[in-house]
Amino acid sequence: MNADTSLTNEQVEAIRLHVYGSFARTGRAPDAADLGSVTGVLLHDVAAALAQLARQRHLVLGKDGTIVMAHPFSSINLGFSVMGRSTLWWGGCAWDSFAIPHLVPDEPNVLVATTCPACAAPHAWTVTRKSPPDGSQLAHFLIPAVRVWDDVVRACGNQRLFCGETCIASWLETTGHARGSVFDLATLWRLARHWYDGRLDTPYRRREPAEAKEYFREAGLTGAFWGL
Ligand SMILES: [Zn+2]
Ligand SMILES: [Zn+2]
Repeated sequence: MNADTSLTNEQVEAIRLHVYGSFARTGRAPDAADLGSVTGVLLHDVAAALAQLARQRHLVLGKDGTIVMAHPFSSINLGFSVMGRSTLWWGGCAWDSFAIPHLVPDEPNVLVATTCPACAAPHAWTVTRKSPPDGSQLAHFLIPAVRVWDDVVRACGNQRLFCGETCIASWLETTGHARGSVFDLATLWRLARHWYDGRLDTPYRRREPAEAKEYFREAGLTGAFWGL
């Protein structure tokens, strides 16, 4: 039981599952009334359940209590769109966008589109479960893995895809940021492939930090940025 409400863990998990299911099916977050009617949780308790899920880092809430992110899904524009056969999503960051076709059962092929943060050139890839997309573009992630949850929206907003090294260098010079982690599309695809496995199922178990490090290592990422 939860301290300040009569919510059970099962009710909180039902809310989590419906948030993720709605995002996966429709591209949008459900509202509180929808969450209440589907799960049978009273409207007053829905807000408490969402707050608990946010504290546990299953969700990100806005100041007004609405759902901003349920990784890899987002209700705000962070620079990427993901177009499936019947659903259109905001892609969250580069990592999240590449993850959606691996996670959503009926959408194994999607079109991921973005613009280069340095020169605004448009880029798009068909991302599938079979193999990484072709392309010489590079990912640049600004915030080290252990600090992502200090401000997760800012961290996601700075996990972008660039034309190449020249555009990364020019963006770092313009913004004054220190260089983060740079890697190719194949590494991004491997990073995204299984990271969110299980989030549409119940119960969901989060990766322990040691498991996360092993996952990053297997994807081909190295260095202190990734805690390795
Ligand atoms: Zn560029
Ligand atoms: Zn992200």
